[in-house]
Amino acid sequence: MGVSRRGFIMGIGGAALAANPINRILAEVINPQTLVIGNIRYGMVHDETKCICCRACILPCHRENKVPAEVTRLDSLDNGTYRELNKNSRQFVRKSCQHCDNPPCVAVCPTGASYKDPKTGIVDVHHDRCVGCRYCLAACPYHVRFIHPLSKTADKCNFCRDTNLAAGKPPACVAICPVKALTFGNLDDPDSDIAKLIASKTVYRNKLYLGTSPKLYHIAGKFGEIRG
Ligand code: SF4
Ligand code: SF4
Ligand code: SF4
Repeated sequence: MGVSRRGFIMGIGGAALAANPINRILAEVINPQTLVIGNIRYGMVHDETKCICCRACILPCHRENKVPAEVTRLDSLDNGTYRELNKNSRQFVRKSCQHCDNPPCVAVCPTGASYKDPKTGIVDVHHDRCVGCRYCLAACPYHVRFIHPLSKTADKCNFCRDTNLAAGKPPACVAICPVKALTFGNLDDPDSDIAKLIASKTVYRNKLYLGTSPKLYHIAGKFGEIRG
């Protein structure tokens, strides 16, 4: 899953660093852009040149994370622009939480329920603190949040933090993809698969101009930019 032994050890070092309040402040000063303490900053790459829109990634996400069928944490969307140009020229984009380094969904939350985990960079929800006000849904420029029909709290992709990741496995969508279109790992570990992939390919991220600093990267399909 691209989380190397070096990255794991560095992560433990980061936890020790964060345990000391003075070091915590220093770490935040050193890295004011992300406020990530330590050396784990999880991200994902979706390779549009490989994705065949089989949608196999969606079902295990629902199953592992107990997401009801009427809502979803991720989607695979057909880029219809190019289908119109050439019926054989289809390509697909992933829609899910971007795990922004500077997440507006966190900034607007009045209860502290929406937060970014400083040890992993994962943006998540404290469901026991969420009052279902929907501020975070309105603030998310990527429109990936929803109210869970059963808990009535905000929900979205959390990189399977409580399920697969907690069990030492890659996220469910990554594990199932039959064409290896998804790569997950520590962006701050230059030896990780994801860091090497990003360094070796031309990638893009959505809505960078908003200053959200998203951690979902895309390798553009061979037919060019996304329109509409
Ligand atoms: S499982 Fe892989 S190929 Fe299928 S839709 Fe998801 S990312 Fe694309
Ligand atoms: S994509 Fe939306 S929900 Fe995810 S971290 Fe960014 S603002 Fe928050
Ligand atoms: S990482 Fe987990 S929660 Fe996020 S989309 Fe993939 S399977 Fe769903």
